[in-house]
Amino acid sequence: MTFHGQFAQTCGTDFETFGLQLPRARIRDSFVPTLPSAKGFPVTQLPLADRWYHVTRVDDRITLITEPHVHPIWSANMHLVHGRDADLLIDSGMGIAPLAPVVDAARRDAGKPLILLSTHTHVDHIGAAYEFETRLVHPVEAQAQAAPGRYTLRSADVSDAARAMFARAGYPDLWDVIIDALPSPDYDIDGYTLKPAPATGLVEDGQIIDLGDWQGEILHLPGHSAGQVGLWHEPSGTLFGADAVYDGPLIWDGAGMNVTDYAASLRRVLALPVQVVHGGHDPAFGRDRLQAMCDHYLRLWGV
Ligand SMILES: [Zn+2]
Repeated sequence: MTFHGQFAQTCGTDFETFGLQLPRARIRDSFVPTLPSAKGFPVTQLPLADRWYHVTRVDDRITLITEPHVHPIWSANMHLVHGRDADLLIDSGMGIAPLAPVVDAARRDAGKPLILLSTHTHVDHIGAAYEFETRLVHPVEAQAQAAPGRYTLRSADVSDAARAMFARAGYPDLWDVIIDALPSPDYDIDGYTLKPAPATGLVEDGQIIDLGDWQGEILHLPGHSAGQVGLWHEPSGTLFGADAVYDGPLIWDGAGMNVTDYAASLRRVLALPVQVVHGGHDPAFGRDRLQAMCDHYLRLWGV
């Protein structure tokens, strides 16, 4: 089952009825790529990206890395958390271009240990996991990271049902390929593959990831995927929500997903004194937005 296939089973969502005006940030003007759309472009004519990853310093503790030339549906956030004794990278994107050098350049001391936490194993979160030595994932999804399915950058592999679902949800049309620029002049689109990245450690609910002067607690937040985890930093009220909660349409009824579990995860998050959420997609948001989103989805799901 490919990620596209999973999306193909997420039909039935009618975002037009949403009082929250979903979808939101991921298709705002600021997120529309500045280069020409790849739609209709022969792959050979795709422009060369000036840089594949965009790196934004959120504050002294957090750096955000994004892939703006990936179609918005699969353009995920990577968060680098700077610590005294070690740094933590939360997710690793699509793996279309080398990520480790970009991460190292963003670190204050690239000689320190670096921990990669995969929040779950959908393609847009584990693509470059193999580049990092220390790889953590929840045990439920360890197999998927060790032996990922076959993936392609060509949208022809996306089913008609999935295309219709994306359109209903309000996402932009798919492009011929899911990138609108090339990371290097000689990039081989058909050479894309998701490489095995067996976990070197497993994370369970309640486990602490200790960076020396910063400790984050693993939250098992199943629903979007069975082994979905978030990371909670209580002193600052910061939640790394991954794909359990982000500021865009949630996906809850595809393969490996469970709406009852998802509802429990949202209720659990709501009960925390969250001040800011850094999600797996889209810009960060605050408590009021979190409350509104959770209220909305819990009402929609009725569980
Ligand atoms: Zn996901």
